[in-house]
Amino acid sequence: MLTTPVPYFAFRHFPAGIDQQVELALLRALRGQQYILGQEVEAFEGEFANYLQAGAAIGVGNGYDALVVALKILGIGPGDEVIVPANTFIATVNAVVAVGAIPVLAEPDPYTCNLTAAVAARHITTRTKAIIPVHLYGQACEMDGFMQLAAQCQLTIVEDFAQAQGARYRGRPVGSFGRVSATSFYPTKNLGALGDGGAVVTSDPALAAYARMYCNYGQRQKYHNQIVGINSRLDTLQAAVLRIKLQHLDELNSERQRLAQVYLSALPGIGDIKLPVTSPDCTHVYHIFNIRTAQRDRLQLYLSEQGIQTAIHYPVPVHLQEAYTWLKYERGSLPVTEELAETSLSLPLYPGMTEAEQEAVITAIHTYFERHG
Ligand SMILES: *Cc1c(COP(=O)(O)O)cnc(C)c1O
Repeated sequence: MLTTPVPYFAFRHFPAGIDQQVELALLRALRGQQYILGQEVEAFEGEFANYLQAGAAIGVGNGYDALVVALKILGIGPGDEVIVPANTFIATVNAVVAVGAIPVLAEPDPYTCNLTAAVAARHITTRTKAIIPVHLYGQACEMDGFMQLAAQCQLTIVEDFAQAQGARYRGRPVGSFGRVSATSFYPTKNLGALGDGGAVVTSDPALAAYARMYCNYGQRQKYHNQIVGINSRLDTLQAAVLRIKLQHLDELNSERQRLAQVYLSALPGIGDIKLPVTSPDCTHVYHIFNIRTAQRDRLQLYLSEQGIQTAIHYPVPVHLQEAYTWLKYERGSLPVTEELAETSLSLPLYPGMTEAEQEAVITAIHTYFERHG
């Protein structure tokens, strides 16, 4: 018997009216005929910086570019080491390699799944230049420890808040702690565009100016190039869309939190399921609702037979990827990360998900464990 089919993710009309607002914003940008940078990009950058309580946001082409640019403008390059969480999306690590530095993988906390300062500290050497806390799945990392570590050891903090726009640590938005921070507006992110997009965030005016110049061919003025830059700009149509989405970000995140609470109250004590744990000083905006069970593969298959799509973040940890054999980490060397890869399952969660859809997921999980204990 098939229950209601449930996608892992879907674009739904939430909150009511947002689709029309996005369409109007697109039409306005289209008719404005300013297709590269211009007023929409400037306005979005200002509004986003303001939302984050940060000095400046610089729109770029995608989240990966934002990370690369963040490291680049800090002067991080060959010979440097950058500490990154071992359990993250590949972009965080690729960006370190892209600037010529060495990624040093650190285990996440087994409860929050986030990197902590205590674990990062064990990996600091004379070559360590930066730490990249990733606010994974949408939960803010515990930033005080990282800020203290940075001050003590003269390191730079670069936040990767691609999964956590709107999350807070002790009331302050993530993205505002790092010397430089990076985020992504990939369509499924909490603040998503209708295509690729990203931003670099910093409260240092000199770094902001440098990032702006670097991302636009190293020119301050057209055809006058001060440095060898790149082309990575936030698309103007995407900026127009993001201005609307940003106005609704808190509401979109609250809806994610409400849906998460439904799972959190319906799933405790079922089989061996471990539910997401949020630290008291942190907020979680549930980009991903991650559960863990030793029966992950069988549960996923069962749910898929019931028409319920799930996802795995991430099935193969970075250190076991073919692309990273040269880092020479053995299987078994990062046990928490490897356990997460084997047991994690991401349940469907998106603003606009219906009660019937969520009920179908919960019922199917109950049924699976009733049969397979
Ligand atoms: C999505 C994501 C990125 C990269 O963003 P893109 O825009 O897809 O390049 C980087 N880091 C994390 C943690 C992400 O989830």
